[in-house]
Amino acid sequence: MAIQAQNQIGFGTSEFSLINNNGGIGIDQSQTMFHQQQQQQYRSQSFLDVHMEKQRQEIDTFIRLQNERLRYVLQEQRKQEMEMILRRMETKALVLMSQKEEEMLKAMKKNMELEDLLKKMEIENQTWQRIARENEALVVTLNSTIQQVKERAVTATCHDATEVEDEGSCCGGGGGEDIPVKKLSSCCCWNCGSNGETRVLFLPCRHLCCCIECEDGLVLCPICNTPKKNRIEAFIF
Ligand SMILES: [Zn+2]
Ligand SMILES: [Zn+2]
Repeated sequence: MAIQAQNQIGFGTSEFSLINNNGGIGIDQSQTMFHQQQQQQYRSQSFLDVHMEKQRQEIDTFIRLQNERLRYVLQEQRKQEMEMILRRMETKALVLMSQKEEEMLKAMKKNMELEDLLKKMEIENQTWQRIARENEALVVTLNSTIQQVKERAVTATCHDATEVEDEGSCCGGGGGEDIPVKKLSSCCCWNCGSNGETRVLFLPCRHLCCCIECEDGLVLCPICNTPKKNRIEAFIF
């Protein structure tokens, strides 16, 4: 379009110079031609303006399209970069989460082990406390029993001395009656009737009931017939 407009302008100029060279033309005619040339120039100018405006619009449209395309490309690139960054962050987050989950599992396992250990220690503590209470009660019972045995031993010694004096004055007799008396006495063995220094206390009934020699053969307490679960040697004197 621009080339065509230049040709038209050039044609108009050559026509004007041709007319001038011929000469002898009237003023009115020359004015008319001048007006015609001016009108033609105006038309050419307006045509050029229209053409320029059209080209400008086309260029604007092209630039706008290019801008939109460039913006679209930039948006796509930015989107891809963001997606890539997101994927990397997701991968890192997954790795971190798996590590944290492993640590949590380890911590939970350790916590369960500690809780089990704590329960075992509590049970052990209760057992030891029960044993301590039983031992305290046993000590109290033993002290009481020892005190009673001492008192009865003193009483029996006095009684034996009195009997010896009585036997000496009465000249014998009554020897067969000593055995049941000794068997019933708590300071003697309830199995064989001996009167040694060592006595054995049966558990759980806590009877100080026999001598050290008879203890092995006894399964039940000779006083209360409770099954023997354990035994303790006690020194009376
Ligand atoms: Zn005995
Ligand atoms: Zn008993």
